Amino acid sequence: MRRDYYAVLGITSTAGPREVRQAYRRLARQYSPDVNFWDAQAQALFEEIAEAYRVLNDPAARAMYDRFGASLARGEALGAGRRGEDVHVSVDLRFADVARGARMRVEVPRYSACAGCRCTGQVGGGRCDACQGRGVRRAVEPVEVAVPAGVDSGMQICVPGEGSAGPLGGPRGDLIVSTRVAEHPFFTRKGDSVHCEVPISVWEALQGARVRVPTPSGEAALVVPPGTSGGGMFRLRGQGLPKLAGDGTGDLYVTVRVQMPAGLDARTHELVRELARLLPLDPRTGLAAYRGGAA
Ligand SMILES: [Zn+2]
Repeated sequence: MRRDYYAVLGITSTAGPREVRQAYRRLARQYSPDVNFWDAQAQALFEEIAEAYRVLNDPAARAMYDRFGASLARGEALGAGRRGEDVHVSVDLRFADVARGARMRVEVPRYSACAGCRCTGQVGGGRCDACQGRGVRRAVEPVEVAVPAGVDSGMQICVPGEGSAGPLGGPRGDLIVSTRVAEHPFFTRKGDSVHCEVPISVWEALQGARVRVPTPSGEAALVVPPGTSGGGMFRLRGQGLPKLAGDGTGDLYVTVRVQMPAGLDARTHELVRELARLLPLDPRTGLAAYRGGAA
């Protein structure tokens, strides 16, 4: 037995459109399939919530529901106006949107209620010319879409009840938003882990240093230990990207590149020779064994 749509959203039958939307958003956050990944009961609840919203958010469908909803004929009454089609759109996201999540206005081409005939398809006994009697007309309308932090390319975000309106007062289908995330010039993403390469001077590599590195959410300090070689990789825990399902944040992996100063003169040349005498180093010990391809 289906529950009353108003009860599903926890609102009264006099609730305004704003109250309907707020109730839906609060419940959708709580029961979203993204949050409750494996919970079948939460998923069923979510579908019930989405269905209730689809009807109550659409003035024509709601009016029909209010009129016939109390009786057993509820199902048939809603069936009189078939549910509209789902609408697919894609959005381009910046790397920063992934780190923080985003609310965006997406222009959605869809069918919406015909104002000329108030979804009935008829005006003064004749067919409505504006919609050719279908009760719906093509329109491009902005829809607010909540993009969760941690989203990746090729994902689909479902916005229930924001697809096309059904003919003759049928409830709206869903809006399906496919995501495309742009590459970042500095950060490379692997799931919720992020990699980047940071240059340090040979002096910082020799003596050790505390260097500031950009992170997806701001900036962090990287402690470079004395005697660090180029290519060394360091992990900054929790400085990657938010995990989409569940809590926590991935890690940032920083690879250091050692940069040399150029333009030695006679004096600095002598100092480097002096340094080489004081800190002797043969980094290629053992390579001789591989001469001629020997293993
Ligand atoms: Zn019309």
